[in-house]
Amino acid sequence: MLEQRLKNHINTYGAVPVREYQDLVLFDPTGGYYANAQVIGRQGDFITSPEISQVFGEIIALSFINQWHQMGRPDKVLLIELGPGRGIFMADMIRTFKQFGDFSKTLTIYLVEVCPALMQQQKDLLGDTIIHVPTLTAAPESDVTFIIANEFFDALPVEQFIFDPLTKIRQTRLITHNTKDGWHFIPHAPHEQIIETSEASLNVASEIKRRLVHGEGMAIIIDYGDNCEQRTGDTLQAVHKHQRASVFDHMGQADLSHHVDFKALQQLMEPLTSTFITQGEFLIENGINERTEFLAQKHTDMAANLRTGTIRLTAPSAMGSLFKVLTIKH
Ligand code: SAH
Repeated sequence: MLEQRLKNHINTYGAVPVREYQDLVLFDPTGGYYANAQVIGRQGDFITSPEISQVFGEIIALSFINQWHQMGRPDKVLLIELGPGRGIFMADMIRTFKQFGDFSKTLTIYLVEVCPALMQQQKDLLGDTIIHVPTLTAAPESDVTFIIANEFFDALPVEQFIFDPLTKIRQTRLITHNTKDGWHFIPHAPHEQIIETSEASLNVASEIKRRLVHGEGMAIIIDYGDNCEQRTGDTLQAVHKHQRASVFDHMGQADLSHHVDFKALQQLMEPLTSTFITQGEFLIENGINERTEFLAQKHTDMAANLRTGTIRLTAPSAMGSLFKVLTIKH
């Protein structure tokens, strides 16, 4: 069992950095969370925006089509999705692209996925319209690149540090276990002394930037997080069967994620132009309400679901404010 293996490791080698813990419980090939097929959707642990409504994927697809027109309708476009989950998001986008035949013809689609079970689900749903690669770096180069990532960056590991402003000492925050205290973080630190960075996220962001600078295109990064200057605090969280849990419970069975530091991503993208707005603002500006009403009137049996879906995606009290959209263009 994963938990026992980690206890043995800690007994022999000592406490592990937060990042190492996250890598193990998420990606261990036998006991890790992503080795497990049922992670997303109603039967799984969490529901993502494309799982709520087809309109989400349609609106994002239209943003790409719009950008393609603004770029003068280039004849070859590489579209890459990072972390496609069950593939529903891409299926919704492809359905929309097909209504724009001239755009659709230009597309080659790559999916970046590490989880074998999800990869299989994506293949089953999307067939041979897509090609899988394990990392963004492994995707081919293109003069025109469109990149989409929904709830991908939050799943990448974070490093946590403790910075003491008096002594100016920076230490790595660690995770350990003993019979008296169970699982816990060491050393103990107040919230405002905890600093998170995600090297894995910065690496992927640098690769996105490199591809956009090298040619032209657009990347849309959607996730929960914020763009505060000098953010502090521990944002690591666990979700198990739609309930918040301790990051130490259901080890390998719960999703672990963190709040994306959009400030760091946006700074890294400079001097490329980027815009940062809430998911609610983005979807409304791009016509989600009009699209929802159009569909609701055409398919009256689906009208109630479509309307509540759009409210969930856009309302500040639901996903509209917590989720943000960072768009980068070149
Ligand atoms: N975008 C989807 C799913 C989000 S869940 C949706 O909106 O429904 C996170 C996705 O990222 C999963 O597909 C997971 O397997 C994938 N993933 C997580 N870490 C990854 C990594 N390091 N490299 C590639 N894919 C990863």
